[in-house]
Amino acid sequence: MTAPKKLAAGNWKMNGSQEALSEVDQLSSAYPAPGCGIVICPPATLIPALSERARGTAIKVGAQDCHAEVSGAHTGDISAKMLAEAGADFVILGHSERRGDHGETDDQVRAKLMAAVDAGLTVIICVGETLEQRDGGSTLDVVRGQLSGSIPDGLTAANLVVAYEPVWAIGTGKVPTTEQIAEVHDLIRSEMTRRFADGAAMTLLYGGSVKAANAEEIFAVANVDGALVGGASLRADDFTGIIRALE
Ligand code: PGA
Repeated sequence: MTAPKKLAAGNWKMNGSQEALSEVDQLSSAYPAPGCGIVICPPATLIPALSERARGTAIKVGAQDCHAEVSGAHTGDISAKMLAEAGADFVILGHSERRGDHGETDDQVRAKLMAAVDAGLTVIICVGETLEQRDGGSTLDVVRGQLSGSIPDGLTAANLVVAYEPVWAIGTGKVPTTEQIAEVHDLIRSEMTRRFADGAAMTLLYGGSVKAANAEEIFAVANVDGALVGGASLRADDFTGIIRALE
């Protein structure tokens, strides 16, 4: 799976039921040949049904987490290989809700990332600072540290997408200024270019309270190639507004 250069990724988090699958029908009929990649990351239980539903459309399916091992005694966990078998092409890793709710460290995220790439998944890795860190002036150091700690060597634009998600902007309706987004995306681009031969071609997303009303302004920022969208990806009507701004 190669990551499309422009990408609108929906993170349903722990939302959605079988009925939500019809949202995907709406998206695929609105966008039979979209000018950007579209990925929906539903709860793991919906991955098989959603990938069945999305077969033959432009919509790809992703997971929201995976385990670092292929199999074993890990009650409640799901391996990257299992997700791929269930129909996922992508997986979100290192989301701040995983780092926060489950205490995931950069080391753990890196191990998961390697497992995901081994299973043939494209990883959307999330980095971003808390409000305290931003107010304390350490945003760039925090993001630099997460990038070096969570992302192993040897990756390419085909298997890695980086999402900058300031923790304080997630689900809050607060969005950084375009200057703040540009500053962090510049850092991410230069780190990726320094570490990877095709880092200049890697897809970099912004995430945190993206909606149709602010998408155009955010997508105009240099080095922003798309969005990782939570709340506004749950309803096709909202998500199509964001896709339209990206195309
Ligand atoms: P939000 O979530 O769009 O609801 O702010 C984004 C995310 O957590 O990926």
